[in-house]
Amino acid sequence: MKALRWHAQKDIRVDEVEEATAKPGCVKLKVHWCGICGTDLHEYEGGPVFIPTDKPHPLTGETAPVTLGHEFAGEILEIGEGVEGWNVGDRVVVEPLMFNPKSRAGRVGLYNLCDDMGLYGLSGMGGGFSEYACVPVDMLHRMPENVSYEQGALVEPAAVAFHAVRRSRFKPGDNVAVFGAGPIGLLTIESLKAAGANKIYAIELSEERCARAEKLGATVLNPAKVDNIVDLIVEETDGGVDVAFEVTGVAPVLQQAIDSTKMHGEAIVISVWTKPAPIQPNALLLKERSMTGVFAYCNVFPAVLNLMAQGYFKVDDFVTDKVALNDVVEKGFHALLNEKDQVKILVSAHNA
Ligand SMILES: [Zn+2]
Repeated sequence: MKALRWHAQKDIRVDEVEEATAKPGCVKLKVHWCGICGTDLHEYEGGPVFIPTDKPHPLTGETAPVTLGHEFAGEILEIGEGVEGWNVGDRVVVEPLMFNPKSRAGRVGLYNLCDDMGLYGLSGMGGGFSEYACVPVDMLHRMPENVSYEQGALVEPAAVAFHAVRRSRFKPGDNVAVFGAGPIGLLTIESLKAAGANKIYAIELSEERCARAEKLGATVLNPAKVDNIVDLIVEETDGGVDVAFEVTGVAPVLQQAIDSTKMHGEAIVISVWTKPAPIQPNALLLKERSMTGVFAYCNVFPAVLNLMAQGYFKVDDFVTDKVALNDVVEKGFHALLNEKDQVKILVSAHNA
């Protein structure tokens, strides 16, 4: 079967690999759609970040080349030995997070914080940019009937955004600001809508992304056009938003996110940082604000799927292109890196 594998930085290839089979405790999936994540782009352009190269990954024992793709949905084709409760034809979404259940984090149920954390589609085992995948049943979530496979491929990134909102002190009716309207920023806006936000500010430089944020109902502020965005937010909200979400990974924006919140407000850090980002801590203490980091997701896939069944996280609001697995490097990875109007590109070996 065909699979997209990461060999080295700037070297990813659609290779012919041995076809996946249903191992014990696993199912064989026909992958319908898999989304390209910002993490995949980082691994391609500047990696390895999470991909094991020198040392085998502690949970999979594998090193590169590894198959990529961790945002995917598919259909069960075969059931492995010892698997109960799943049937051929079941429509499923994969929660790709791997953890050690015996670790401190695993034991207390905070599996996203495990030191040995890995991802199916980055750390070995297989991936979603592939015709078929062998997936442990612990990673499967059943899809409601009215949720499409395309939407299924959005559950993983939506879970990142939704988890950030759940971990924050956000309450229905609150005013919020989302700094950065890339895929996770837009999905954060949608999560906040579902959670009952009042005013949602989206701060974003790209015109195309501004238009998408606006379509989702956010009040858009483009730093290229508006001076002193923080002052404007503080003015309009009588002191600042209740919660600000930082989704750019750009150092000066972290300070802006903090400064845009009110007294006792909260800044949520979603971005993963490659360098230190200096902040002025007085901004926290003089207004008794707090700053909270969030990582990946924990126990939220079912809630995201239920919201999708209710009509949230519509495919057209986030997906800008669908491409065939054979074209994934040029029309997928390169398009996302070069075309500013792209948000989320889905890939399929069967449907595109
Ligand atoms: Zn991802």
